[in-house]
Amino acid sequence: MPDAHSVIIVGAGPSGAVSAILLARAGWRVTLLEQHRFPRDKVCGECLSATGIDVLRRIGLDSLIRSYGAIPLHFTHLHAADGTSATVALPRPMWGISRHVLDQLLLIEAGRSGTEVRQPARCESLVTTGPTPTIRVRDLLTNVVTEERPDWVIVADGKSALLGAEVPRPTKDFGLKVHFKDIAGPADAIELFGTMDTYGGLAPIENNRWNAAFSVPASLLRLHAGDLEMVWERLVGENKTLRKRLADATRVSPFLASPLPRFGVRRQWPNRVIPVGNAAAAMEPIGGEGMGLALRSAELAVEHLLSAQNGTSTARDPGGTAAASSDPSNPDITSLDPVELQNAYHHLWRTRRTACRAAAKVVSSGVFSGMAMEFLRHNERVGQRAMAWMGK
Ligand SMILES: Cc1cc2nc3c(=O)[nH]c(=O)nc-3n(C[C@H](O)[C@H](O)[C@H](O)COP(=O)(O)OP(=O)(O)OC[C@H]3O[C@@H](n4cnc5c(N)ncnc54)[C@H](O)[C@@H]3O)c2cc1C
Repeated sequence: MPDAHSVIIVGAGPSGAVSAILLARAGWRVTLLEQHRFPRDKVCGECLSATGIDVLRRIGLDSLIRSYGAIPLHFTHLHAADGTSATVALPRPMWGISRHVLDQLLLIEAGRSGTEVRQPARCESLVTTGPTPTIRVRDLLTNVVTEERPDWVIVADGKSALLGAEVPRPTKDFGLKVHFKDIAGPADAIELFGTMDTYGGLAPIENNRWNAAFSVPASLLRLHAGDLEMVWERLVGENKTLRKRLADATRVSPFLASPLPRFGVRRQWPNRVIPVGNAAAAMEPIGGEGMGLALRSAELAVEHLLSAQNGTSTARDPGGTAAASSDPSNPDITSLDPVELQNAYHHLWRTRRTACRAAAKVVSSGVFSGMAMEFLRHNERVGQRAMAWMGK
C-alpha cells in the first residue's frame, strides 16, 4: 500500500489545529509547526461565533471546550462614546473563551489524533518552485534548521506571510488585549464601546474573568510611544460606559498588542499550498467571526483535499465535512482545482467583511455613533439585519 499523504501545517491557532485534527483522523501524516510554546495568550476578543461552535460540534469537541468554562453570550450591547446605548440579541449564542484554553485544547486533540506537534519551531521559508513544496524549519530549542518536503503545506500562520508575492500589505492598526476580573457588566453579553476614532469590546470568559480587546490606530500607539497602559487609559477615558464597567475592576494580565490583518481572499496560491484562517483572508474583528471562519475554512480545506484524493471535488459551504470517511491509499492528488475552494472561502468572507467594516466605521465614529445607537434602539429589525450580514 502506498504511503499516506504528508502535510506540514504552519501555525497552531484554531485553523491550523483543526486542519491537523481532521487530516490526522483521515490517516494523513501530519506535522504541525508552532513558533510559540502553548498554552499562550493571543490578541483576540475571545468570543467564538456560532459558525465556530458548529465546527466544534461536528468534530466532537464542543462539550469538552464548554466544560472548560466557555460562557454562553446571548446579546450585544453597543455603547457610543457619549453614553447612548442599544442592545441587539444574538440570533444564535456565541461563547466567551480565552485563547489560552481554546487553542491549547485544540492542540492537545491534534496530538491525540496522531499529529506530530513541533513547538517551539518556526517555518522560516517556503519554496514552491519544485514539484512539491520545500519548507525550512528552525527548532527554537536547539536552533537546528531542517528542510522538509511534504506533499502539501497548509499555511495557518494568521497573517499569510509565507505566500510570496501574494503577501498582503499590513494595515496601520493594532489589536490590543487585556484580562480583568470584577467588571461591573452583564455576564451573558458582548459589549462594544465606541471611542472618538476606534472601538473595542468586553466579554466574560472562563474563571470569572473578562477579556477586553480594542482595534488601535498606529497613530495612537505612536502618540504614547508604544506604552500600552497609556493607550488603554486614553481609550477608557473616551467612553463613559466603559469607565463605569472598569470602576472596581482589577487587571489580571499584561497588555498584549499585535498588528491587525485585514484583506480579502487571495486568488493565487502556490502549487500544493493551501491557506486557512487568517492566512486566507482577514476582516475587521468587530463581528467576532475570525475564529469561526478560521475553523470553518480549515474544515473546507480538509474536505477539499480529501475529496480530491477520493476523485470527487466538492468544496461546499455551508455543510458538513467529509473528513471522517476518506481513504489515504492513493497518494496522487492530481486534479485539485483551488478555484472551488477559493470560491467557498469567498462566500464565507465576502459579506461578513463588508458588514464588519461598515459596523466598525459606525461604532468608531465619535460624532455619529450616538445617533446610530439611538436609531438602533427604535429599529430593532435593522440590528437583526446587520447581525445576519455579519454571519450571525
Ligand atoms: C483585536 C482583535 C479582536 C478579535 N476578536 C475576535 C473575536 O472576538 N472573535 C473571533 O472569532 N475572532 C476575533 N479576532 C480574530 C481572531 O483572533 C483571528 O481571526 C484568529 O486568531 C485566526 O486564527 P488562525 O488560526 O487563522 O491564526 P492565529 O490564531 O493567528 O494563529 C496563527 C499561529 O501561527 C503561528 N505562526 C505564525 N507564523 C509562524 C511561523 N512562521 N512558524 C510557526 N508558527 C507560526 C503563530 O504563533 C500563531 O500561534 C480578533 C482579532 C483581533 C486582532
